[in-house]
Amino acid sequence: KLASREFNPTDTLIRVSDVVIGGNKVVVMAGPCAVESREQMLETAHAVKAAGATMLRGGAFKPRSSPYSFQGLGEEGLQYLALAREETGLPFVTEVMEPQMVPLVSQYADMLQIGARNMQNFALLHAVGEAHMPVLLKRGLMSTIEEWLMSAEYILSHGNNQVILCERGIRTFETSTRNTLDISAVPVLKQLTHLPVMVDPSHATGKWDLVEPTARAGVAAGADGLVIEVHPRPEEALSDGPQSLKPERFAALMTSLPAIAAAI
Ligand code: PEP
Ligand code: MN
Repeated sequence: KLASREFNPTDTLIRVSDVVIGGNKVVVMAGPCAVESREQMLETAHAVKAAGATMLRGGAFKPRSSPYSFQGLGEEGLQYLALAREETGLPFVTEVMEPQMVPLVSQYADMLQIGARNMQNFALLHAVGEAHMPVLLKRGLMSTIEEWLMSAEYILSHGNNQVILCERGIRTFETSTRNTLDISAVPVLKQLTHLPVMVDPSHATGKWDLVEPTARAGVAAGADGLVIEVHPRPEEALSDGPQSLKPERFAALMTSLPAIAAAI
């Protein structure tokens, strides 16, 4: 298998402008769940840049559980992300939800995100496999590590070897957190694959006050980076406010990471 350590014993490094993912630095992708307005995106981008984030994140096309929830700004959202990149110098990742949208999203983004709900959307995996773009492949809500790696295989086998895996929690019987962060997925993946591994403690926990400890655990477990939701006013967020960090909390989290990364 193309994703396996047997096929490629050395860690894959993925370059996104001047960011290297999979090296010995912890990459932090931060930003709002959804791009809500020009002001919200720019304010968040400047705040996370000041705190030391290496990339921006933000959804323009949102896979919401309810059709009545905010669905994202679409292409307008991509334009605000591009503006945020211009102002901060940070590249960005954003979700693409359907194969037909891959060309449009690729025109703006530096990295394509495949959301948890689309991990086994094979037509979409095929489409991003033909794109010349890094892909952040989130773990499906109910997916085993083996299924997840087979989804990565769809992308790799269509010619795109720039895949990053993102553990974002899975469904279990536990209801204290939105999902259950499978922290052991990080070392398990490190054994099985040469692809970089990230952790998203925001979606894994669903609660802002659990983001910092689980983010730290992700780094301690050997993750190559983190995906963190940040909103300047979480109480007003159009999606995922309860799990979004205020910029000050995000900055505090950032200062705690180097010591953990240095210790492993
Ligand atoms: C997101 O990153 O905003 C998102 C929708 O994540 P997931 O697909 O992991 O639920
Ligand atoms: Mn979200």
